[in-house]
Amino acid sequence: MNRLAVHNPATGELVTELPADDASSVAAKAVRARAAQPAWAALPLAKRKACIECFRAGIMAELESLAFIMTLETGKPISMSRNELNGLLARIDFFLAQAGAATATQTVFSDGGMTEQIEHLPLGVVANISAWNYPWFVGGNVFIPALLTGNAVLYKPSEHAAMTGLAIARLLHAAGVPVDVFTALIGGGEVGATLLAQKIDGLFFTGSHATGVKIAQALGPRLLKLQLELGGKDPTYVCEDANVRNAAASLADGAMYNTGQSCCSVERIYVHERIHDAFVDAFVATVKAFKVGDPMHDDTYIGAITRAPQLEVLDAQVADALAQGATLLTGGHRLSGPGNWYAPTVFSNVSHAMELMREESFGPLIGIQKVSGDDEAVALMNDSRYGLTAGVFTPDGARARRLLAQVNAGSVYWNCCDRVSPRLPWSGCGDSGLGLTLSTYGIQAFTRPKAWHLRRS
Ligand code: NAD
Repeated sequence: MNRLAVHNPATGELVTELPADDASSVAAKAVRARAAQPAWAALPLAKRKACIECFRAGIMAELESLAFIMTLETGKPISMSRNELNGLLARIDFFLAQAGAATATQTVFSDGGMTEQIEHLPLGVVANISAWNYPWFVGGNVFIPALLTGNAVLYKPSEHAAMTGLAIARLLHAAGVPVDVFTALIGGGEVGATLLAQKIDGLFFTGSHATGVKIAQALGPRLLKLQLELGGKDPTYVCEDANVRNAAASLADGAMYNTGQSCCSVERIYVHERIHDAFVDAFVATVKAFKVGDPMHDDTYIGAITRAPQLEVLDAQVADALAQGATLLTGGHRLSGPGNWYAPTVFSNVSHAMELMREESFGPLIGIQKVSGDDEAVALMNDSRYGLTAGVFTPDGARARRLLAQVNAGSVYWNCCDRVSPRLPWSGCGDSGLGLTLSTYGIQAFTRPKAWHLRRS
């Protein structure tokens, strides 16, 4: 049997070795999921909702130990693991409240003779290949609405959040979701690739652009429903009339929360030249006050880098920025181990010739660029292959709306950042992905609308 070694990124220690899937177990699970799905779909929605309500209660009952597991395997500061689980409860509440209305059969036309209706059918068996950075959030955005709408789910958690993936499966099964209706597949990219080869009716992926492209290429000829939630290089512009202190505090948090390992982390900051120096001072002071340390401690703000290879990406972006004349204001180096550690790092005097302003850093690294005004800021914000989120800080709401209307991004923020709401669609433009999760659209995404044309005689 294959095994997956789980290491604690904060210490480098081996946590456990999990039994892992191989080609034959993946194939067998896919066959069982297909056999189990029709009975699950045939249940009244109220029964499926009852299972998800019970799952929610299970999370609440075990919140502390689930947070511990997530921190152990990802290095996420424990307070942020708790925040993620509490945030998930609100997302579950949204899905429970909206699933009925979002998927009810709708009569869209009736003139006495002809009636037209839209029925929402489950896709069938959906595969969910997921990321490690917010394993409960990004997994839950998929498997909760997928289950509520009557699908069976083959869920491959990241190899860096596999213990969390198994905890999710255990709690769903304890809540009454049949074992073959939600199945965890344990392993790395090879298990994900094997999953793609099974008979599935939709593929929902969260992860890097590079892997997303491989998946799209593999599935292209099969014309499957495909959603890809990928990376970002999210910009924010701080206008000259912004409250410097508030903007700096908010954006330092947006850049460094979860050790910068969020898809919607602030990754580029543009500051109007009139307040640039004051902003940089306030920003650096905030970052220097962040407590780096043991992710299990309640007051730790910066934890470990989850994947060791990301340290090389950060080293390379720092070296490139220094070579091209950027000003290093703090950090700029690894912290001594064991484990994977990087000092929170801030550069000014950066430009778009530098990798750190072009490619996802996915770590505690940020560049701040001075701009002369709104036009330059908008042009720079749009100078990216990604388009996940973007923000503007100014007290002037009309100005913020005017600027954000010109920016290519799935989500835009006025005087806030790094924020996700279950009520709003979560999507990206360009290389940030295809499709969406969350909102009522993110419930309907797991259904196939069937058109009914009904003439009385
Ligand atoms: P990753 O692409 O390395 O891995 C994601 C998943 O794909 C893992 O489960 C992995 O095992 C699997 N995988 C790897 N190779 C595969 C293959 N050839 N076929 C099938 N599956 C394969 O990404 P990651 O490091 O887990 O996540 C970080 C990335 O995810 C960042 O770029 C981040 O921005 C992005 N992300 C995006 C969102 C969003 O909502 N847009 C949310 C979270 C993370």
